[in-house]
Amino acid sequence: MKIALTGNPNSGKTTMFNALTGKLEHVGNWAGVTVEKKVAKLKGNLKTSKSEEVMVVDLPGAYSMSPFTSEESITSDFVKDENPDVIINVVDASNLNRSLFFTTQLLELGIPVVVALNKSDMVKKTGLTIDVKRLKNLLNCEIIETSALKEVGLKDLAQVAIKSAKNKNGQVAPKILEDNFEIKTKEDSKKADKLRFTFVNEITKKVEVRKIRSNKVTVADKADRIIAHKWLGIPIFGLVLWAVFYISQSWLGPILAGYVEELIGMLTDAVSGSLEAAGTNEFLSALLVEGIIAGVGAVLGFLPLIMVLFFLLSLLEDCGYMARVAVVMDRFFKKIGLSGKSIIPMVVGYGCAIPGVMATRTIKSEKQRRMTAMLTPFIPCGAKTPIIALFVAVFFPNASYMAPITYFVAIALIIIVGLLAQKITKAEIQDNYFMIELPEYRLPSIKRALLSMLDRAKGFIIKAGTIILVCNALVFVLQSFDFGLNLVGEEGVTSSMLANIAKPIAFLFIPLGFGIWQFAAAAVTGFIAKENVVATLAICFAVLGDNAEQVLKTPGDTNVLVVAGGLTVVSALAYMFFNLFTPPCFAAIGAMNSEMGSKKWLWSAIGVQFGVGYIIALLVNQIGTIIVYGKLAEGFVASIIIVAVAVVLIVKLIKNNKDKGEMGINQRRQQKEIA
Ligand code: GDP
Repeated sequence: MKIALTGNPNSGKTTMFNALTGKLEHVGNWAGVTVEKKVAKLKGNLKTSKSEEVMVVDLPGAYSMSPFTSEESITSDFVKDENPDVIINVVDASNLNRSLFFTTQLLELGIPVVVALNKSDMVKKTGLTIDVKRLKNLLNCEIIETSALKEVGLKDLAQVAIKSAKNKNGQVAPKILEDNFEIKTKEDSKKADKLRFTFVNEITKKVEVRKIRSNKVTVADKADRIIAHKWLGIPIFGLVLWAVFYISQSWLGPILAGYVEELIGMLTDAVSGSLEAAGTNEFLSALLVEGIIAGVGAVLGFLPLIMVLFFLLSLLEDCGYMARVAVVMDRFFKKIGLSGKSIIPMVVGYGCAIPGVMATRTIKSEKQRRMTAMLTPFIPCGAKTPIIALFVAVFFPNASYMAPITYFVAIALIIIVGLLAQKITKAEIQDNYFMIELPEYRLPSIKRALLSMLDRAKGFIIKAGTIILVCNALVFVLQSFDFGLNLVGEEGVTSSMLANIAKPIAFLFIPLGFGIWQFAAAAVTGFIAKENVVATLAICFAVLGDNAEQVLKTPGDTNVLVVAGGLTVVSALAYMFFNLFTPPCFAAIGAMNSEMGSKKWLWSAIGVQFGVGYIIALLVNQIGTIIVYGKLAEGFVASIIIVAVAVVLIVKLIKNNKDKGEMGINQRRQQKEIA
């Protein structure tokens, strides 16, 4: 038996799915988080009999069955094609009017529908009562009050659904449209929508009893006037972000990291001790200790920082704050021709660019969707956190504002690049209104935050133990041998394969201030997984993982203004920006490919990301060197040429487009005249 879960975005489907199946899918406190369908078995204790197998499918949220966005058509296609035995329509009881529109469409499919009147716990608190009996009669279908969050009413819901599935012909949809009404034109569709709205409005009026007048200004409304204020919202966000980073990167995170580093140190000693005792081949034990353990250890050393970061971000999301940030940022995004919906992928992208890019699927306009998929990876994801943490700790140890600044630089880049891309592609700036529901403020759940944190940690550890481990081994081997497969030893490391592969690349980085082969190699392995940047640096500078920060610091040198590992403060910042703002890892590029659905767009996007990362690093290094050290950096002339070429190219592209646009207008004018 197949039960389909469907309903408006943010109605609580994912929470319901988790509660019904015992799975742990990411729950987001805003619309647009669920993008693909998920399937799992109904929990045993919710079933009516042990023997039957009941599958639950969670579908993306939809506001209506008309395929306005690809996500919504997934829902309607699924419901139409796969023919579930019963549909559980999750309805947000605090938003009845809007939810029921979709419900009436579902009822007309001829499949039994059971309405889960969800978030009933919240509704009760707001002083709203819903006459469920009356609603049941008006819609002529089963309605169960539930709270997916508090796991209330789920057994009832499951059993009524199973019963309805067995009794296929028991339901007659309320009559909204005439019997022979067929939707052939846009006008028909508008007419049908209108009828439906009227029907739903009347129902809502009949069943909702509000004890509190809804136009009363609540404390939450007052808070929103400040927190989601168009100007005040920005410094508040800055402050919140600073606090998050301070706690995760400068205070609690490093304390916990100390323990992990100790553990890794102990493990390293134990392994190298036992390898020595067993008389293992020198190269093999070096590979294991200095390559694999050191590299993986360098990455794992940052695990506590990441865990604390995601714990805090999850709290912020859960209490409803992130949705307010989306509202504050929305204004800027609309100005550059992006959809207000573009903010969601970007907020999801702070965790990982892959689901971030996938979340662009809810954006209706193709151009806006592709542009958002191109811009989302600029937001530093979790894998980039070790890079930020390492470089900030080494080069800016007393500047707790540095880490949050990287996020603001990312947002600024998105706006600037978005604006230029809009000028080049001539994406129309539409006043598309964007509805993000401002979820209620509530006390965040520590349990959910812990679960989300453990989930992140699991992903991070798995990645460290697989892809990063393999990369580290490879880097170590490449660094240990030359092309004649002779061991090169520590002195001869510059003749190793790795050095020889990385040197020509490093040449390109001279104007950026880090034309050093080790840094080039680390940047390249970063495209496989961004954590590799830190791991590769640890291996290349042959420093064990338990003091990864030493990688870049000359021993005993407290004045970080002096060259460290070949970098200056300025070129270190350039290197960090380069790694943060050039294209994301291959997996995220894969996601960009599938969401963009165009090779031309994909390659242009990768080109743009490369260009942006490169130019930003170049500007930071060249201008920074002049300001901080009062001298010209290496490659100054080359930099001027590169920037000039870039400017000319951009101006040309924009002009080209303008001409095309004007030509279009002229042609149309001519055609009109002829006509
Ligand atoms: P989806 O977009 O429909 O999949 O919705 P989610 O499952 O992601 O839930 C959206 C938000 O509503 C999350 O913040 C949930 O914690 C919250 N939520 C879901 N079910 C309930 C409920 O029964 N009561 C309350 N108070 N909140 C809920």
